[in-house]
Amino acid sequence: MSGRLKDIQSMAKMLKQGATLTELSCPVCVSPLFGLKNKQLWCVKCEKRVVLMKAGGQSRQNSNPMLLSNLESTLLKKIEEINMKMSEASDPDQLHKLGVTLSGLLENLEKTRAQRKMGNMGS
Ligand SMILES: [Zn+2]
Repeated sequence: MSGRLKDIQSMAKMLKQGATLTELSCPVCVSPLFGLKNKQLWCVKCEKRVVLMKAGGQSRQNSNPMLLSNLESTLLKKIEEINMKMSEASDPDQLHKLGVTLSGLLENLEKTRAQRKMGNMGS
């Protein structure tokens, strides 16, 4: 649980630092990947830079929004909203509430992606 909380806190910290949540998942842990300002991808859970294989136009398929489920894109939108609110909030209570909400959203996003991954492997 404490490790889980640490992940969420790191993710929130990344967002505050201007990183953006991408629609890509870490190939190792399925955790959402963050796009850094220098265009690198970062996995908070693995605590390292992730380099996704890019073979010509093939990587385009992986980031095709059509492949995102409705739930996933809704979650991403909500996370962006929370992120905006967090950067404006100064009240610790409000920040805490936003953090809890963000944590829940990220958890749901991970679950959705994990299920999608399993579904892909099964077919
Ligand atoms: Zn990872």
